[in-house]
Amino acid sequence: MAHVLIIGAGGVGGVVAHKCAQAVKSGRVFDNITLASRTLSRCEAVAQSVTARTGVSLATARVDADNVAELCGLIRTVKPHIVCNVALPYQDLHIMDACLECGVHYVDTANYEPPDTAKFEYSRQWAYADRFREVGLTALLGSGFDPGVTNVFAAWVMRHKLDEVRVLDIIDCNAGDHGLTFATNFNPEINIREVTARGRYWEHGEWVETDPLAFSMEFDFPEGIGRKKCFLLYHEELESLVTNLNGLQRARFWMTFSENYLNHLNVLGNVGMTGITPVPFQGREIIPVQFLAALLPVPASLGSRTKGKTCIGNLMRGVKDGQKKTVYIYNACDHEACFAEVGSQAVSYTTGVPAMIGTKLIAEGLWAKPGVWNMEQFDPDPFMADLAEYGLPWQCVDVE
Ligand code: NDP
Repeated sequence: MAHVLIIGAGGVGGVVAHKCAQAVKSGRVFDNITLASRTLSRCEAVAQSVTARTGVSLATARVDADNVAELCGLIRTVKPHIVCNVALPYQDLHIMDACLECGVHYVDTANYEPPDTAKFEYSRQWAYADRFREVGLTALLGSGFDPGVTNVFAAWVMRHKLDEVRVLDIIDCNAGDHGLTFATNFNPEINIREVTARGRYWEHGEWVETDPLAFSMEFDFPEGIGRKKCFLLYHEELESLVTNLNGLQRARFWMTFSENYLNHLNVLGNVGMTGITPVPFQGREIIPVQFLAALLPVPASLGSRTKGKTCIGNLMRGVKDGQKKTVYIYNACDHEACFAEVGSQAVSYTTGVPAMIGTKLIAEGLWAKPGVWNMEQFDPDPFMADLAEYGLPWQCVDVE
């Protein structure tokens, strides 16, 4: 049995805690859970909800995950087998350093980003591979939905449905409505940095850059969602998938946004509120996007008011038995059902469930392999089985 230390008690951290507790209750894998974050009261609120829903108690702690010495102090006191990092991407390297120093496995859901540059790439985390390998520890990167499940979907399709892949389109739709004028469904600062960044896709062996949200397409989503406009973004799983999937000629990532969301984002961008460069304000410096984030609702507060579904999946075109073949593999998730189960909206839920599953598979030894890995580098079958069991059932259909 394993002891898991979850770091980050926001929207996603709340779901990871509930899902780990469900595993504890069914006598599987974990016997102890500690939830630590910067604000202790948020950990305590999650712990209360977990106990009320599952009867399982969690320990809570305060930690500044930007401080490696403080992290090591916590890890040495708590003595976990594995750390599940669902704080912000800025903390990834500090938490990896602490895991190496204290000898525990590591899982995260988002690629490291330096606070002063809105750019993510895996090189900084892949550079830890030798150190994790030498001490026999596993680091699993991007175990959320996208990245995360989308990488595992790709690996599963390559094992069971296609012999070769030519084209990959990852398509993320949130057809939910929270009824607020403007809010982001995961951390506002990270969300706005991602959406306002330049787009990028992979074609014929090289990256092609685009202006932010310059390309769009319509896609007809299943499960009653229907046609929606999707915009091309750069997303981190493209980097590992074009490295690990042989034969890809084109790989792109698409996300739906409402007109209302885009209008607000445009206006905020036009007046400089989405910027990440410090500006002087009343005798001190502030970063506009951080000030904006402080005004917006925290993602964990959206659960009770969000209705509708998310639908995230991969459209993959390739060859099977010498014939051209296209498949669409996806999960659809209902916001209100997530709220009824764990008190969160579906974006936090679809990230927190795979974070728990990646952590569980390492703790069980099925995905324990010394080094630093992306999700598609492991056997997809146990992960896909757990997805269905822990609340994210999936479908794979042939497309004409
Ligand atoms: P939230 O803003 O709701 O929560 C972030 C949590 O991290 C908060 O509890 C915050 O503490 C804590 N935190 C921030 N800085 C520190 C620090 N220095 N030390 C300790 N704790 C800290 O974000 P979400 O839950 O929506 O997102 C969590 C992560 O999940 C993000 O990295 C996000 O990018 C990722 N994500 C991944 C997705 C995927 O599919 N792969 C999809 C959605 C999100 P405090 O309460 O004090 O602010």
